[in-house]
Amino acid sequence: MKSELLLVLVLSLCVSSKPLSKKKTYNKLLLISFDGFRWDYDQDADTPNLDALVKEGVKAKYINPPAITMTSPSHFTTITGRWIQDHGVVHNLMFNSSTGVIVPHKRTLTKSEWWDNGVLPLWITAQNQGLKTASFFYPGGGVNYSGQAVDRSLVESNGHPDDNETEWRQNIDTVMRWYSEEDFHFVALYYGEPDNVGHAKGPETPERRKIIEQIDRVIGYLREAIEKNGLTDRLNVIITSDHGMTTVKKSPEVNEIRLANYMSFFNLSEFELLDYGGFGMITPKEGKEQEIYDALKNAHPNLRVYKKEEIPGQFHIAKNQRIQPIVLFADLGFNLNSRIILYINKGDHGFSNHEMDMKMIFRAFGPDLRKNFLAEPFDSVSIYPLMCKLLGVTPEPNNGSFSDTTGMLLSSAPLLSPCAPSACASSALCLAVAAARSSSSLWRSAAAFFSCSA
Ligand SMILES: [Zn+2]
Repeated sequence: MKSELLLVLVLSLCVSSKPLSKKKTYNKLLLISFDGFRWDYDQDADTPNLDALVKEGVKAKYINPPAITMTSPSHFTTITGRWIQDHGVVHNLMFNSSTGVIVPHKRTLTKSEWWDNGVLPLWITAQNQGLKTASFFYPGGGVNYSGQAVDRSLVESNGHPDDNETEWRQNIDTVMRWYSEEDFHFVALYYGEPDNVGHAKGPETPERRKIIEQIDRVIGYLREAIEKNGLTDRLNVIITSDHGMTTVKKSPEVNEIRLANYMSFFNLSEFELLDYGGFGMITPKEGKEQEIYDALKNAHPNLRVYKKEEIPGQFHIAKNQRIQPIVLFADLGFNLNSRIILYINKGDHGFSNHEMDMKMIFRAFGPDLRKNFLAEPFDSVSIYPLMCKLLGVTPEPNNGSFSDTTGMLLSSAPLLSPCAPSACASSALCLAVAAARSSSSLWRSAAAFFSCSA
């Protein structure tokens, strides 16, 4: 109640300078991620629906994942707008380098201690500003942040089949009901393909093209479902991914990387996170860091070795305590094998985000987005401020740039310009809004009054 009184007071102060006609309600937003959908996967498959979306909406040539091109780190960058070193989800596996305990990916999806490192994902920020949000299998949606859960969250169970087209359609039906019958504002929907097929069969195969055509049919189903549910003029949709995929290079074509050829793990390392594609970390035993570094530095022509303090700043990973003292990147297609070569995947990711094979798809369409608009490539970290803009949510501090995506928006879209965090901190109006958000449904209409002039 107190915050509503404060809001009314501030509203009355503003009425003279901000006309009521600027009041605006925001359209809903659906974020869909297809795991491992490389930027060019639509170019050698029959994809009439993705092709139609190019005309009906926005296409980016491609977008750049963060430097650790893995599922959990990249998805969490998209939903927080933060670099990996800031959000702290540095790997698909949860690990403790002191105890040596490693938790498999699927089991991390309900472990708050892995995800909740002081950075709030969009669900929680939007909820704190009066919106209703949901996660449908999206990584990071199944845990609590500072004790807060996502309003509705479905977590993919272990062994859940990723490629069932009937279920894919049912999931869309469920999400449509959330919007049309329960008035959800934001849903993040995750699909585990084409990642699985890319790993198992390789990216340049008929099987991968087939799963892309299946995805395209489901996008067609989504377009029909939006229409059928009367959401065409009320729902913006972003379709993206988390990383690409490349063909794994194997012996005898190449000299595979097997680190045990160059160092003794038993004598030198306390803990290691290896055997997972192109990225790895090693925790040396006390006093053994230089020895490991020297052993590996020039060991293999396709292996790049960094001490933590040497990691280039543009990777945006070094400033996090979960990054171990020695970090390894393999060149595109070369897997990091520790003791034995046990890797059976034909395709993989985890390689440098500068490699074209790691780039991701980006499409967007809906009432606030331009049609037939081709956007230049940008970093996936900038999806977050775009989502905040579309939802009328004041963003948390983030590493994205709205200038990357501003050209996608219709100039007629009467969008709120969310206050920059630094401006908010010093603005009485923003503080008043912040106070009002948690309790008042007036927030949505009031927000229009407080839009920064930027
Ligand atoms: Zn992935």
